[in-house]
Amino acid sequence: MSRFLSATQKDLVPYVPGEQPRDRSYIKLNTNESPFPPSAKAQAYAAQAAKSLQLYSDPNCTALTAKAAQLLGVEPENIIFTNGSDEALYFVFLAFCDGSKPAIFPDITYGFYKVYAELTHVPYTRIPLKEDFTIDIADYAGNNATIFIANPNAPTGLLLGLDQVEAIVKANPDNIVVIDEAYIDFGGESAVTLIDKYDNLLVVQTFSKSRSMAGARLGLAIGNKALIDDMKAIKYSTNPFNVNAMTMAAGLGSLEDGEYFRSNCEKIRTNRSWTTQQLRDRGFTVLDSTSNFILAKHPLLPGKQLYLDLKAKGILIRHFDTQRLTDYIRITIGSSEEMAAFVKTIDAIMEETL
Ligand SMILES: *Cc1c(COP(=O)(O)O)cnc(C)c1O
Repeated sequence: MSRFLSATQKDLVPYVPGEQPRDRSYIKLNTNESPFPPSAKAQAYAAQAAKSLQLYSDPNCTALTAKAAQLLGVEPENIIFTNGSDEALYFVFLAFCDGSKPAIFPDITYGFYKVYAELTHVPYTRIPLKEDFTIDIADYAGNNATIFIANPNAPTGLLLGLDQVEAIVKANPDNIVVIDEAYIDFGGESAVTLIDKYDNLLVVQTFSKSRSMAGARLGLAIGNKALIDDMKAIKYSTNPFNVNAMTMAAGLGSLEDGEYFRSNCEKIRTNRSWTTQQLRDRGFTVLDSTSNFILAKHPLLPGKQLYLDLKAKGILIRHFDTQRLTDYIRITIGSSEEMAAFVKTIDAIMEETL
């Protein structure tokens, strides 16, 4: 830390992304990326856009927004595009949270909610998930706070049904409820259909997972026009060109290639069921995931050890060294070849250590 760092940021604990080591080639099952490349149409549109990079990008993301609105069944005014959905979450903290409107979210959820709360000096409360890692929706009533819920949740993969999401939104007419749908395309039902009914609902989605565009940085928030206008005010006060021209073009290409998108989501679902069953057959407890990762534990193999053994054998997964998660490992669902290699390596580790 330099002697110049503002006293307001000296306690900041930055988000720790999953490792991206370059020392050797790994089978990467640690950061919930897609194993598939972006749509060919996305790639072609991005290459085309690269020819005009001397120009600023369209701050309104006009074509992309029109296409997204059509597919989501909303109006363009209900959508704001951002530099990854992380930026949408950041805008929510800047626009809607402060000392008198704190943030609440589960104790086990996406790590960035806490980081943004600290960065923006918003007080926050973490509500413990139940013993089985499910959310008790009764915990999310009667708080004067902005609510952040990842649905499906990360890293549990557990889904709240649309009726449960609606119950939370309904119980909070004077609080914004943010439903972070980073993984909704892998089997859940989106809350976007509720935005006309509730002016306090904000849905956040991303192109990073199901659309194979993590490196492009593209996310969006969907909600009532007044909420979106407030977020646009933040955008135009920080970086009007937050979505670069190549990413914007790639995003449109991805949306125009619905068939590729749906087929990849289907492959992930198939590989998820297969891997879940394989692990259960080997004595693992595996949570019922609706996302592109699974959370699993073995009664005899500690999470940290599994992580290290897998890494030594060229497979990266994620271990969270926190009290409630330390027994577990989180495995991103990759291609069928990757998952077969993963299971084979688990067999080797079990044979060596048990
Ligand atoms: C991956 C993820 C995000 C952020 O994704 P971006 O790459 O910034 O779009 C947001 N929320 C959750 C729960 C995630 O897992």
